[in-house]
Amino acid sequence: MAKKSRSPAAPSLAHLKEEICDIGRRIYNKGFAAGNDGNISYRLGPNKVLCTPTMISKGFMTPADLCIVDMEGNQISGKRRRSSEILLHLTIMKERPDVRSVVHCHPPHATAFAVAREPIPQCVLPEVEIFLGDAPITVYETPGSQKFADTVKPFVKDCSVLLLANHGTVSFGETVEKAYWWTEILDAYCRILMLAKQLGNVEYLSAQKSFELLELKQKWGFTDPRLDEAHAECDIGANDVFKSTWKQTGVVRRAFKAPPPMKRPRRSSKK
Ligand SMILES: [Zn+2]
Repeated sequence: MAKKSRSPAAPSLAHLKEEICDIGRRIYNKGFAAGNDGNISYRLGPNKVLCTPTMISKGFMTPADLCIVDMEGNQISGKRRRSSEILLHLTIMKERPDVRSVVHCHPPHATAFAVAREPIPQCVLPEVEIFLGDAPITVYETPGSQKFADTVKPFVKDCSVLLLANHGTVSFGETVEKAYWWTEILDAYCRILMLAKQLGNVEYLSAQKSFELLELKQKWGFTDPRLDEAHAECDIGANDVFKSTWKQTGVVRRAFKAPPPMKRPRRSSKK
C-alpha cells in the first residue's frame, strides 16, 4: 500500500539504470520472469520514463540496454525497442502521481491466483496486511494495448499490487525496489497460502488482531482503503473493497473458505 512520504533526493540516471538491472536479475532469479517476460520502469520527470526493452531476459540486462520514453510511450532514446507493455506502466503513473516505479512480471504463485480467479485471502499474515492490503484481480484483456492497460484503472488508486487476470502481476511504488517488494511479498504469500491449504487448514487472524494490524499500518504511515471513511462499514477480512468487481472479473471464492466476519466496531473520528 502507498506510504505517505517525503520525496527522497533524486537518484542519478546511472544509478537508476543499475537499480533496474539489479531488480531485473532478482525477478529472473526468483523465477518471476521466464524467457523475456516482465518489465520495469521509473518516472524520471513529468514526460520522461526510463524502461526496460522488449525481447531481452530481465536477468541479463546492462544499463546500456535501457530505453527512455515519453508519457505517451513514444521512444526518446535507447538502442533497443521499448517494452510493449509500457502503456500499462504509463497508465498507472498517470493515475497515481505519487508512483515513480512500476514492476510487471509473472510470478507463478500469485499468477496461479490470477488464473484461478481466486481472491487473495486477507487477515492471514501480519506483513501482508501492513505492506499490501487487498490485491485485486483485473478483467482479462489481450496484453499490449491501451485497452489492456486500462484494465488496472478501477483498482490502481486503492492498492499497490494487483493481479492481471490470466497473466501476471503489476506493482508500483516510490522507488524501483519498493515497487518490486510488493510483488515479492505477494508471491511469497500466495505460496504460503497454497502450502497451508495442502496441509489442510488456513487459520484466519481474529477480528481483534486484524484491527490491531490496521491500526499499526496507520501508525506507520501506510494507507489502506479499509481505513478510509468510505469503507468504514466494510468487513476487513472479506475483500470488501474490491468485491463489487468480482462479477465482472469472474473472481469467485472457490479454493479458500471465507474468513469469519470482521466488522469494524464503529470508529471514533480519530485519524
Ligand atoms: Zn506480462
